Amino acid sequence: MDTTIGQRMLPADLLRWGSRNRRNLPWRDSRAPWAVLVAEVMLQQTRVDRVVERWPRFLVRFPNVASCASVPPAEVIAEWSGLGYNRRAVYLHRAAEVVMARHGGQIPTERAELEALPGVGPYTARAVRAFAHEVEAAVVDTNVARILARWTGRRLTAREAQDLADQSVPSGHVWSWNQTLLDLGALTCTARAPDCELCPLADRCAWRGEGSDPARGSAGVSGGQTPFEGSDRQGRGRLVAALGEGPVADGRLAEAMGWPGDTDRARRVVGTLVADGLVVVWASGYALPGWEPGT
Ligand code: SF4
Repeated sequence: MDTTIGQRMLPADLLRWGSRNRRNLPWRDSRAPWAVLVAEVMLQQTRVDRVVERWPRFLVRFPNVASCASVPPAEVIAEWSGLGYNRRAVYLHRAAEVVMARHGGQIPTERAELEALPGVGPYTARAVRAFAHEVEAAVVDTNVARILARWTGRRLTAREAQDLADQSVPSGHVWSWNQTLLDLGALTCTARAPDCELCPLADRCAWRGEGSDPARGSAGVSGGQTPFEGSDRQGRGRLVAALGEGPVADGRLAEAMGWPGDTDRARRVVGTLVADGLVVVWASGYALPGWEPGT
């Protein structure tokens, strides 16, 4: 089978599969740029089922850019607690401030302006353009990167994967096309057990589950997360959750992080939280940035 990238565009009839099989996810009912941005930042590193629970709650608390920008970061971090990778909350708060200061409260449309926002990289910028503004942009997350490698039958560079995705977007269907590919990767062309029998691409796919998987080592295909249990991430998350209730004294730090007796580890890890802007030194302990008594 020809694996020349330019000749391997995905077939537009995939949209028919999408219209029957796409998941009903709450953020897909919205084209509001702020709501889409919040969903995309959450989805960067949190499982879809957790985002289904927490995205509506976050938007009740911060329904627009102005409501997020107007509070101290402590309030956004506290609302984010439990979603993991809390640095995203700090970036989202900073992004809201920048949107208020530079864009009059409107999330920008241009890729360069989106990528200039804190915490918004090329993927998130493209996702906001595709899902909120519905301008021609192909998104390539780990699910889409996996499909593209298998479809072409070989490992792709990041440039090849993005070019192929860009060329494949059917004109006028940017939203539904991207959502369809994300779901094909999440539901059918999965990392461990691709269901080629039921796949709408099966008759034209170069790999079809035979031989070594070309997605392994292909650009943009994730190798999976390291275990959470016992990790520094777990201790960071515990401390941020505890700080949501108020400051933690230095003497209680190790206990709050779940490592009683291991003060050295607690101090090392809290240093990374301070460096990330998630935690500040406060009196003889630690607090969320902008925390004030009574908040
Ligand atoms: S045929 Fe199999 S490997 Fe190819 S895209 Fe479909 S599920 Fe993935």
